[in-house]
Amino acid sequence: MVRREQDRHTFYAGKPQPSADSPGTFKTINPSTAEPVCTIHTSSPRAIDAAVQSAQSAFPSWSATPPVERARVLQRAVALLRQRNDELARVETLDTGKPFSETSAVDIVTGADVLEYFANLVAGGGLNGEAFRLRPSAMVYTTKEPLGVCAGIGAWNYPIQIALWKSAPCLAAGNCMVYKPSEYTPMHAQYLASIYREAGLPEGVFNVVYGAGEVGGQLTAHPAIAKVSFTGQVSTGKKVAGAAAGGMKYVTMELGGKSPVIVLPDADVDQAADGALLANFYSTGQVCTNGTRVFVPRHMKQNFEKAVLSKIQHVRAGDLFDAATNFGPLSSKPHYDKVVSYVRRGIEQDKATLLCGGVSQPSGLPSGLKNGYWIEPTVFTDCTDDMTIVKEEIFGPVMSILYYDAVDEAVRRANATELGLAAGVFGKDINECHRVISQLEAGITWINTWGESPAEMAVGGWKSSGVGVENGRRGLEAWVRNKSTLVEMGGEVPTVFSKL
Ligand code: NAD
Repeated sequence: MVRREQDRHTFYAGKPQPSADSPGTFKTINPSTAEPVCTIHTSSPRAIDAAVQSAQSAFPSWSATPPVERARVLQRAVALLRQRNDELARVETLDTGKPFSETSAVDIVTGADVLEYFANLVAGGGLNGEAFRLRPSAMVYTTKEPLGVCAGIGAWNYPIQIALWKSAPCLAAGNCMVYKPSEYTPMHAQYLASIYREAGLPEGVFNVVYGAGEVGGQLTAHPAIAKVSFTGQVSTGKKVAGAAAGGMKYVTMELGGKSPVIVLPDADVDQAADGALLANFYSTGQVCTNGTRVFVPRHMKQNFEKAVLSKIQHVRAGDLFDAATNFGPLSSKPHYDKVVSYVRRGIEQDKATLLCGGVSQPSGLPSGLKNGYWIEPTVFTDCTDDMTIVKEEIFGPVMSILYYDAVDEAVRRANATELGLAAGVFGKDINECHRVISQLEAGITWINTWGESPAEMAVGGWKSSGVGVENGRRGLEAWVRNKSTLVEMGGEVPTVFSKL
């Protein structure tokens, strides 16, 4: 199954560009086995500059290409992504440690859907401006202009999906992109760059640089970058947004969360428990919108815990390419260490009640996987708002159950955080569900479901969880700037200075 992956080099001017000035190499690791998969050559400052220049050279022609023609190129890339779904899913599985059952059904599919959505949107007039008569002799028209060369900086949890969610509206709007994948999961980037080329994207429109925070910092600070679209931790996002502000650059910030799930008193216990499991263990809990604080009415305690314990038996760790596996390892050793330290802290310092799980490996793992970064799906119950595991983003398979007595109390406690990425409610009375949702301080919310994020739906965090949105019609607006033109047809300019 494991095929030798070619080394990765900075990709610009339409191809990988090996160079002697790379400051070094690093390896991506298969998190299920801890074995190396691919060698990456860090982009040097010169290579970063060359990638930006390549994008600058491509911009005049790409931005002048009619939207419908740009859309045709992007649609061809959509077809290639779908044709190669399983090959790309295999790469994502090796890089992230997510089961193939998940990457083959979701990661490439949701990326391709977004590319198709934005191609259709711009072909269908999504970039049209407006025109109105100001007075009989004058009118105003507006145009949506691309920004120029934009940077995309990705997190490691949804590598190709993030690359597509950023590049799709960026390129559809007529911009060019220099993209930096996470240093932990960079393999997809060359596949995507090659697919874009094969689809007919002119060279220089999509480029890739490799490396960790330093490379991201150089890219952000590059004077020719007009916008930075960033996905990652709140702490990094603050640095990136600060650096971008210094150059008065546009930003989109998709950051972390500590999202609440509120189970209402009339909720179906089974449905709510299913939702809580999905919100905590899908992708081994490494989803930004994870619903990690599960607020449950006190009277439901026994039934809810029973349902969780029963359903958690169906979380299956194992060989990532086995169709029955639906739970993978943590994505890297540093991340494993971080999640394990949070679980230990939950047990030892927070003194939370461990309902199930802990820091050991899931039982029954094949011997070839023993060196991987596995932990069990973990549930703490009877948690309180002041516990570290309840306050901080863990980004792993760790659920905290908190009991409440009154719905308004649950809402108040759910909102008592600086983060505001996602939130959800489960309940039978739909009016009450809407009432509660309207009070929750979060940019992405669900009622009686969790996690679905279709291309048509704009998503973005409130408070410290982000700035701006991705996807939906609003997602395209994030990649254009407005030009307003006032046309006077009366034949005279105002005569303020010509008459004394
Ligand atoms: P991270 O902040 O550590 O890294 C994200 C990216 O930023 C990486 O490519 C990294 O190399 C780069 N980077 C690091 N320092 C930088 C700097 N100074 N300047 C520029 N770039 C820099 O985040 P991560 O650990 O890769 O990702 C996990 C986080 O991402 C979680 O907090 C998760 O909630 C968040 N996330 C958010 C969304 C969303 O849509 N809101 C989606 C996925 C992940």
